Amino acid sequence: MAGEPQADCLFCKIVAGEVPATVIRETETTVAFRDINPQAPTHVLVIPKAHYPDAATLAAAAPQLMADVVRETGEVAAQENIVPGDGGPRTGYRVVFNTGSGAGQTVFHTHAHVLGGRGLEWPPG
Ligand code: IMP
Repeated sequence: MAGEPQADCLFCKIVAGEVPATVIRETETTVAFRDINPQAPTHVLVIPKAHYPDAATLAAAAPQLMADVVRETGEVAAQENIVPGDGGPRTGYRVVFNTGSGAGQTVFHTHAHVLGGRGLEWPPG
């Protein structure tokens, strides 16, 4: 059933506390934890507690939950002091939903990457 925990899903195991993670925020519907292989000084993943394989599936099936995830990306940025500020390289941040293996998605439980704390190039690779 949509949203149900999946036995073979790493991020469902993090939600359940079966795999350790450095959790920095938690709400009724979401968890935010540090990426194990950070690509920037701040690299946090925000996930819904419910299992949806990718952002498009989540947005279509449970738009309020998608909104919860997106709102939490802003809360993470505020907590990490990377909200847009003086225009310097350590403020401003990027939110990425890799969607599909061709776009680099490797964990098929929706997650928003929140990246910041350094200057970020555009276009991305
Ligand atoms: P994706 O490539 O967009 O699917 O992102 C998956 C992310 O999960 C990668 O940035 C990984 O470094 C990260 N990751 C994989 N396993 C763990 C873990 O156990 N804890 C925290 N982050 C993880």
